Amino acid sequence: MAAGILIIIGTCAGLYYFSRRVSVLIEAKLNAELDAKTQELQMSSAEAETESRRRDAILNSMFDGVIALDSSLNIILVNPRICLLFGHAPEKKVRNMSLLEFSHSAELDEAAQTVITQNQPCELNLKRFVSGNEQHFQVYAAPLQTLPPGVVMVLRDISRLVKLEQIRTDFVANVSHELRTPIQVIQGFSETILDSPPSDTEQLRYFAGIIKRNAQSMESITTDLLTLVSFEDETTARPPLEKAALTPLFAEASDAVLFSARNKNIDITTDCPPGLCAFVHRSLFVQALVNLMDNAIKYSGNNSRIFVSAFQDKDTLLVEVKDKGIGIPAEHKDRIFERFYRVDRARSREAGGTGLGLSIVRHIALLHRGTIEVDSHAGEGSVFRLRLPL
Ligand code: ADP
Repeated sequence: MAAGILIIIGTCAGLYYFSRRVSVLIEAKLNAELDAKTQELQMSSAEAETESRRRDAILNSMFDGVIALDSSLNIILVNPRICLLFGHAPEKKVRNMSLLEFSHSAELDEAAQTVITQNQPCELNLKRFVSGNEQHFQVYAAPLQTLPPGVVMVLRDISRLVKLEQIRTDFVANVSHELRTPIQVIQGFSETILDSPPSDTEQLRYFAGIIKRNAQSMESITTDLLTLVSFEDETTARPPLEKAALTPLFAEASDAVLFSARNKNIDITTDCPPGLCAFVHRSLFVQALVNLMDNAIKYSGNNSRIFVSAFQDKDTLLVEVKDKGIGIPAEHKDRIFERFYRVDRARSREAGGTGLGLSIVRHIALLHRGTIEVDSHAGEGSVFRLRLPL
């Protein structure tokens, strides 16, 4: 009996000891597995974090705007560039905002909807007006493989390209327009001479004179255009500036317009202190002076006077070309420096103008890191001020 009890106790103790061992072993094994799992999880969450940081870095540095939307066209993700393009502060919370609310563009909303319904990528050009300015985007939209599918859109700002293209088209149209008139005149008069030659030599000379004037006008236009094109060619290096005494440059410019001034009996007064020097590109500086003086003569009546002066105003060289001519009405003042802009087209043409003179002066001022401005009143005369840093 006692032996039986002992056997039972012994078996129980053995079983207890055995189960303890097994549970310790299981616990150790579980702990090890748990540790491994924890480590694995920690690693994958660190990897996920690195991955997410990498993704943010890529999105943040992208020049294009990126926007990801869920199937209801609400925002899942945007990059800072798109916030900037659509005028949202970067810190503004836009997650879950609808695309329409974010972009105020029904066109963009429609494109996103099409991508979802057709499950196909699409491409479109988008035009927006932001505080009076035109903004142009090239938009690529593609299905986003989520469940249910969303849309990802990439927007590239092509406003500058569109503007350049517009300038190019306007330019070609302007040039053709400007050349058409002298070409037609030359054609008309040469045909007249050929078809019914005038018997009178005087009349023949008169026709030939008209042909010559129009050929000269075409030559001036092409010369001015080539000058402008050379300024606008970004591959050409800036012309080197050198220290030059200004008095001889003023004399050179006055000589160049002497003939036209004499023709109208216009007196030119020059005031340039001897010894005044500036860093300039000599021939371009003279060309700017000639263009301004030539205009002063062209747009003044006979027997008038023009004043040309240069002086140092602190660290700036101030050149003034002043006339008592027809002046410029206020509404045209801002535009006369544009290519081919003229207040009175017929008068400019008659005086041999090309509409490019002031635009060349503006370029020359810019090449010297300077400015050009005008102060003028219709009927009273004008003062053009060229300021160059000394
Ligand atoms: P243009 O060859 O026609 O003179 P510019 O570019 O030199 O071309 O000048 C543009 C326009 O500005 C002129 O057509 C003229 O209407 C106006 N303008 C320029 N200079 C003067 C001036 N001194 N007085 C009055 N109008 C001027």
